[in-house]
Amino acid sequence: MRTVYLDNNATTRVADEVLDEMIPCLRDVYGNPSSMHHKGAEAGEPLNRARERVARLLGAQPEEILFTSCGTESDSTAINAALAAHPDKKHIITTMVEHPAVLTYCEDLEKKGYRTTFVPVDRQGRVDLNALYAAVSEETAVVSIMWANNETGTIFPVEEIAKKVKSLGAAVFHTDAVQAVGKIDINMADSAIDMLSLSGHKLHAPKGVGALYIRKGTKFAPFLMGGHQEKGRRAGTENHSSIVALGRACELAAEKMEEENTRVKALRDRLEKGLLDTIPNSFVNGDLDNRLPNTCSISFEYVEGEAILLMMNEFGICASSGSACTSGSLEPSHVLRAMGIPFTAAHGTIRFSLSIDNTDEDIDTVLKCLPGIIHTLRQMSPFWAEAMAANAE
Ligand code: PLP
Repeated sequence: MRTVYLDNNATTRVADEVLDEMIPCLRDVYGNPSSMHHKGAEAGEPLNRARERVARLLGAQPEEILFTSCGTESDSTAINAALAAHPDKKHIITTMVEHPAVLTYCEDLEKKGYRTTFVPVDRQGRVDLNALYAAVSEETAVVSIMWANNETGTIFPVEEIAKKVKSLGAAVFHTDAVQAVGKIDINMADSAIDMLSLSGHKLHAPKGVGALYIRKGTKFAPFLMGGHQEKGRRAGTENHSSIVALGRACELAAEKMEEENTRVKALRDRLEKGLLDTIPNSFVNGDLDNRLPNTCSISFEYVEGEAILLMMNEFGICASSGSACTSGSLEPSHVLRAMGIPFTAAHGTIRFSLSIDNTDEDIDTVLKCLPGIIHTLRQMSPFWAEAMAANAE
C-alpha cells in the first residue's frame, strides 16, 4: 500500500540531501568538537558551517544561534533565560493556543510563584491584541507567542507584537517559530524579537535537534549547566551529526520556500476545496487570510476524528486529529476549545499538513477516500441522526 503522508506538522521525512551530509559525520567525522586533537578540529568545522547556515535562514548572525536538543528545550531555555535575567519581574504573557512546550512550562512556573496571563484568541484563532497589550506592564519579564499555530497554521503578527509589547514595558519577547521556520520568510535583522525557537524535525532534519536564536545583547542564562559547549550557553556534548543535518536542512528550506508557497499551497488549497465541495457540514479552521501554506485543519461535524484517522490509515493516509487523549476521555484540543469551535465539530477535526514531498496523487487519494469514510461514520453517528432529524423538523 502506498503511504500518503500528510502529517508534516508532526514530523517530516529526513531529506536525502540532509542524510548525505549527516552520515559521514556519524561514520568518519566522529571527534568531539571540544577535543584538542585533529579529530576534534575536524568536527568543529562542520559545526561552524551549520551555525552559519541556520543563521542565514533567519537573517541572523552565527553567534546568535544556540544549538539545543529540540524545540521544547529551546522554548524552556528562552523563557527561563528571560526570567533569570529579570529577577524583579514575575509576570509572563503567552496565549491560550501555544504548544504544550510553552503552555505546560508556564503552568509549572505559576506553581513556583510567577503570574501568567494566557491571552485568548477569536473564532479564527487570531490572538486578541487588545487583551494582550492591556496585560503588559513593567512587571512583565517575558511575552512568549508562537509565530504560527501547529494545529490551524494561523500566523500571528509577532514582529508587530514584539515592537509593541516592548514599548509597553515587557523586558523580553520570545517566539516559538517551530512551525514557521522554513515555511515563511523570517528576517531577524530588522526585528524586535529577542529570542526564537526552532526544531529540526519540522523541516526535514532529524528529530532531537533544535536551535534558539538569541539576539546579540540579550541577557542570557543557561538552562543546562556543565561543560563549556556553545560558549557556556548550553552544556552537553553537541549532537554533532544532527546539527550538521539541521544546517543543511535550513539551506534546503531557503531553496524550497518558493515551492512551499506555490506548489504545496496549491495542493493544500485543492485538498481543502475538494473536501468542502463533497462533504456537507464541514468547515476549515484558522485565519484563512493568514495561514501557513501547508496546513489544513478541517472539521467534519458529528463524527469522531479518531475513527476518521483509523479508516484513512486503511488507505495508507496519515494525518492528525484535533483531540488529545487525556485521562481516558477524548477531549477536543485546547486550541480548538480556545477558538470556541463547537464540541460536535471539534471532535471531528482533522489536520492535514503537507510538505514538498507531497504530490497531486496524494491529494487525489484523500479526495477519493474521505467523502465515503465520513458518510459511513455519519450513518453510525447518533449525533448525525439527531442533527438530521432536527433539520427536517
Ligand atoms: N512548538 C511547536 C509549535 C510545535 O509544533 C512543536 C512540535 O510539535 C514543538 C514546539 C516542540 O518541538 P520538539 O518536538 O522539537 O520538542
